[in-house]
Amino acid sequence: MEVVRSQKKPSSAFASADVVSNIPLYRSPPTLEVRLEDFERFAVDRLLVLRRISDGLARGKKPDEMEKLVNDLWKANMRHPQASEVINKDIISHFVLRLVYCRTEELRKWFLSIETTLFRYRFRLESSDVHRALMTELGIPYKVVTNAEFEGLKDKLTQVARSVSQPLPTSDGTYYKVPFEEVPELVASRRVFIQKGYAYVALNQVVSFIIPHFRSHLSKALVLTNRKWTSMIREQEKDRLTPIVEALSTSYLGPDYSQAKELGEMSLKDIDQVARTAFPLCMRHLFDTLREDHHLKHGGRMQLGLFLKGAGLKLDDALAFWKAEFSQKVGAERFDKEYAYGIRHNYGKEGKRTDYTPYSCQKIILSTPGVGDHHGCPYRHFSEENLRAALGKMGVSSRALDDVIEKAKTKHYQLACTLTYEAVHGSSCDAGINHPNQYLSDSQKTLEAKKLSTQTSFTDVQ
Ligand code: SF4
Repeated sequence: MEVVRSQKKPSSAFASADVVSNIPLYRSPPTLEVRLEDFERFAVDRLLVLRRISDGLARGKKPDEMEKLVNDLWKANMRHPQASEVINKDIISHFVLRLVYCRTEELRKWFLSIETTLFRYRFRLESSDVHRALMTELGIPYKVVTNAEFEGLKDKLTQVARSVSQPLPTSDGTYYKVPFEEVPELVASRRVFIQKGYAYVALNQVVSFIIPHFRSHLSKALVLTNRKWTSMIREQEKDRLTPIVEALSTSYLGPDYSQAKELGEMSLKDIDQVARTAFPLCMRHLFDTLREDHHLKHGGRMQLGLFLKGAGLKLDDALAFWKAEFSQKVGAERFDKEYAYGIRHNYGKEGKRTDYTPYSCQKIILSTPGVGDHHGCPYRHFSEENLRAALGKMGVSSRALDDVIEKAKTKHYQLACTLTYEAVHGSSCDAGINHPNQYLSDSQKTLEAKKLSTQTSFTDVQ
């Protein structure tokens, strides 16, 4: 794959025999030129799909729900204005993310698992002709059961199919003879007939052995890509692709909260009430600590300060807010001398005059708070005991609390936060929490909607 800045865009299609498949096998990088902006944009679109799949798995969605989720996500994010470019977008985005996710063991593990899940559900949605074509394409060496052998086994195959509510075998259907140890899922759930060491696998069950092939190929490919990345690509592309690749795995993909467009202003008189009812736990913890200790270290001031800016707190109000707290600890004079600059800086009024952006969950989760710091993500950085206490204070019921703790323990921090949101507000948040300002904005919308519905029903009664 060659990355260019030009408009040149050769097309590429994937086909096998007479059957055109919508699923590429990603065996080799595309031999086409890619515009630099497509390189990043396609990868971001795929990453949105992968992250939501990961979220669906962590939520314990059932296979049918996952199938629908994958289908909807794919349609929503992986379209292209030109139909002929859809396959290219699929292949290019996969290979860009290979580069992004080949770089550490943890990244490889995540990508392998989610791409395999994506493949599994896309495969399930394809026709049996495509399944057959993919088997050939993958060079899977299992024998097709001959007509004579099929007739001899028909009764046994019918019995098994009936017992697991599979379509009954017909003489024009395909069965494969597979060493039984290669389809442990089917054997364990007694969904295949076994004889002399072979499992007789119906065409609609082949996903069971296609997936290990796909997974093993991708796993090896990721290790090879990593070698190429470290020995060559990273250095060669240090001024062009490397910064994009390195930023993508931690990039925030949601709306921009650098300006408080949606929420309007946050007034000082409401700030305590909003903090209590609508802040996510990370910000609520910083806010409460500031109110109690009248001080926060640099990391906390940045995390909370930028969040409040994104929430619509104007510069004058922000200065008044921080000064009221810090003055009680360090005195007004020292605040003006040492701390006011940092606040004006966040609003782009000092230094390089950059308008700093509120931190996303990814950035907060990856921060490393030291002793005495209060920033970071509580689902990652709190002890279990502290997390339980903090969630209890937010009003999370004890049943929901166990779920949240379990997600935090298994490192699904944003999902833990999403479950907290759902428990506190009693309404679902299917897109998941990706940004503290998104949590705030969604909370405020939900609270507003509840208020309106209470007012409406009250008016109805009058
Ligand atoms: Fe804050 Fe995001 Fe962690 Fe929630 S998941 S507590 S919003 S950093």
